[in-house]
Amino acid sequence: MKKRIAVIGSGFSGLSAAAYAAQTGNDVHVFEKNSIPGGRAGNFKASGYTFDKGPSWYWMPDVIENFFKDFGYTSSDFFKLVKLDPQFELVTQNLSVKIPESYSDLRAVFESLEPESGKKLDEFMRAAKFKYEIGMGSFVNKPCNHIGEFLSPKIISAAFSLDLFTNFRKYVAKFFKNPVLKTLMEFPIIFLGASPEKIPALYSMMNYGGFVLGTHYPLGGFYELVKAMHSLAEKQGAKFYFNHLVEKIQTNDNYVTSLLVNGKTLEFDAVIASSDYHHTETLLNKTHRNYKEDYWESRTFAPSCLLWYLGFNKKIKGLQHHTLFFENELDGHLKNIYETKTWPEKPLFYACCPSKTDNTVAPENHENLFLLMPLSPGINDEEALREKYLKEMLNRIEKFTGETDLEKNIDFRRSYCVNDFIEEYNAYKGNAYGLANTLQQTAILKPSLHNKKLRNLVYAGQLTIPGPGVPPSIISGKIAAGEINKKTHTPERYNLKNYLNEKIV
Ligand SMILES: Cc1cc2nc3c(=O)[nH]c(=O)nc-3n(C[C@H](O)[C@H](O)[C@H](O)COP(=O)(O)OP(=O)(O)OC[C@H]3O[C@@H](n4cnc5c(N)ncnc54)[C@H](O)[C@@H]3O)c2cc1C
Repeated sequence: MKKRIAVIGSGFSGLSAAAYAAQTGNDVHVFEKNSIPGGRAGNFKASGYTFDKGPSWYWMPDVIENFFKDFGYTSSDFFKLVKLDPQFELVTQNLSVKIPESYSDLRAVFESLEPESGKKLDEFMRAAKFKYEIGMGSFVNKPCNHIGEFLSPKIISAAFSLDLFTNFRKYVAKFFKNPVLKTLMEFPIIFLGASPEKIPALYSMMNYGGFVLGTHYPLGGFYELVKAMHSLAEKQGAKFYFNHLVEKIQTNDNYVTSLLVNGKTLEFDAVIASSDYHHTETLLNKTHRNYKEDYWESRTFAPSCLLWYLGFNKKIKGLQHHTLFFENELDGHLKNIYETKTWPEKPLFYACCPSKTDNTVAPENHENLFLLMPLSPGINDEEALREKYLKEMLNRIEKFTGETDLEKNIDFRRSYCVNDFIEEYNAYKGNAYGLANTLQQTAILKPSLHNKKLRNLVYAGQLTIPGPGVPPSIISGKIAAGEINKKTHTPERYNLKNYLNEKIV
């Protein structure tokens, strides 16, 4: 029977949930508070530039491809994906290393920094591939309702090879001695939102999903993926309502009955909430929430960040598409994020210059530059601090590239930080990447996909399973749609109105 399902939010998890829920014949309505789909992966155009606002590392392309395959498409039906070579450049205090696209070249880079490390890299990546295949095949698609889901003979026999209980830092140190190689291998952990000492070595699968499967870029920008998923969800029949703020999730007994959207009550059989988990819970009466405030206070959140979107009226020589400015120690900056919760004294930052690959994102002979500096969520966010760190980052880019007076060549500038994440996405403490993937916040230990008191409400997105990042958010939407399909029904006693004829807009 056709059900009416509301999806709150149209980030990657909401787009995915809408597409899968509509594919199975449901009547799906997506409510997004902002004017465009994509959530944290939105984009904007200004002064001839096209800026992606969030994600820029297109990793784990197979997971994204599986999404398209589930609907009979490939990503190439929507956009052209190119493989970056070099994948990125790592700038350290004494030297910089370009990470090549081909594995044999990558091996040679390792050998040049540490004799015999090529063999170690093979060993590391063999284990990482195994974890990736088990993780993606047997773990990541589980709704994580109970531990029983993980008690299959295949998973149990693989458990010891997954390095769940070894920390990432120790694990990397078993393979490599050279500090640059260690930093290189630890860098993907930043995506998982915690210090390498807090992340299980299981996640070395990320090194395989990135370094070996390659760093990709959709021509036109990362937003091409959002546009593709939006159009695919619409093809399945999902209807989208932008500038529609969900103000309340309304209930009767242990069911959601309706949403209050832009001041209007709209009835639904079931709801998939892909808005930030903490915010979604504030739309419910306290008695219906899964978690209290002290639960959220006790979680390890992935960082927020300071972002600068910059246009330059000239080309910047010596900069790659992706450059990591890691001249300072990773641990110092991590301490600022997780312990002192202060602005960093010696920051690390990341520069993305997509106009090196794509001439559609900047006017001719101009450069499109996105700078990202991770910060503790909830930190005081002031204009003067944003400016101070812009100067620091530009100085470091000048020092590395030999360019001078970069600030004078800026012809477009916009910053984005903690307060904007709160304002635009209702993000708890202005977090950028959701919850960190520490062992205590993995699988069944993550905030539950199901509301435990309301039978027809499930959550999706980077704060629930499987975790932060574009591929996990897409998977999260798929799992949420599957779960709601299992349990969706209209409680007859509520005698819902003939809502299918109701006009929403
Ligand atoms: C700066 C940055 C860089 C990143 N880089 C990468 C990267 O390189 N690679 C990678 O894989 N991942 C990256 N990520 C992570 C990735 O972007 C996220 O994990 C993913 O986009 C989260 O999707 P989501 O659907 O969970 O949440 P969101 O994208 O936040 O979507 C939630 C949506 O809900 C809407 N909403 C909230 N409240 C309401 C309400 N009351 N009513 C209606 N709508 C509401 C919001 O407006 C938003 O559109 C990055 C993230 C950031 C912020």
